[in-house]
Amino acid sequence: SRGSGAELLSGASVRALLDSVDAFLFDCDGVIWKGDKLIDGVPQTLEKLRSKGKKLVFVTNNSSKSRSQYADKFRSLGLSVTQDEIFSSSFAAAMYLKVNQFPPHKKVYVIGGEGILQELQLAGFTAVGGPEDGEKKVQLKSSGFFEHDKNVGAVVVGIDPNINYYKLQYGTLCIRENPGCLFIATNRDSVGHMTDLQEWPGAGCMVGAICGSTEREPIVVGKPSTFMMDFLLQKFHISTSRMCMVGDRLDTDILFGQNAGCKTLLVLSGVTTQSELDDSSNSIQPDYYTGKVSDILELLGE
Ligand code: PLP
Ligand code: CA
Repeated sequence: SRGSGAELLSGASVRALLDSVDAFLFDCDGVIWKGDKLIDGVPQTLEKLRSKGKKLVFVTNNSSKSRSQYADKFRSLGLSVTQDEIFSSSFAAAMYLKVNQFPPHKKVYVIGGEGILQELQLAGFTAVGGPEDGEKKVQLKSSGFFEHDKNVGAVVVGIDPNINYYKLQYGTLCIRENPGCLFIATNRDSVGHMTDLQEWPGAGCMVGAICGSTEREPIVVGKPSTFMMDFLLQKFHISTSRMCMVGDRLDTDILFGQNAGCKTLLVLSGVTTQSELDDSSNSIQPDYYTGKVSDILELLGE
């Protein structure tokens, strides 16, 4: 028996949903693509929604790319999506600092990828660390001293496949030696699709390492935090009650949509399985669920 209150999407409910929303917020991995592979039927479905006048927005927790790098990825997959329709957690980290008037003369230490560096630089901040620290090593011997830049006022942590002890020490010192230093996490996803066939440790792993050494909790700017939603709402002036968040994770996407008062649609083309959805101990339930995004097109039957 199903413990969930979620309704399986049907022809009738998809029409009701389309009538009740003006915008669709799409999570990317597990919904639009899986790793580098486009999910079947996505281009036609997005075109159909656009032809019905729906605003489309893409929200990803994967901080490895900047918005412009994501625009390239959409293009390479044959999808026409512009940079201003894309909200990545890399961009959210930069916007968090901007909105909170982080002083531009201070530096931001990055444990993460090029995407975060690019967005920070575009927003006018001085970013240090990132991929170039991937080659660096610490010398652990008696009376060894590790220097860090005392002008670092924020540490941003995201997915970093080249995390090492040097970066952990650098970030840890910045935070521990300066109680005013901001500790920002792009997201805390446990796993992500670095490749299409398998899940890999996500940014939650890198963030958890810094939590462990600093005994501090981060400010999370990605889903399910409402930061990106608030930012997005200011930009588009759409009412959240007329939005539908489409995602494959309950604890990030669906919670993100629910926190903001959006309608929510879970697709089973990503990380959440039918049995996880059906588990009655699970407190996060979407309004609707279906197998994949293109079911919208199929169920409409137009
Ligand atoms: N973080 C990483 C490193 C990932 O690889 C992924 C998915 O591939 C995610 C986060 C989740 O991204 P999204 O929010 O688009 O599902
Ligand atoms: Ca996802």
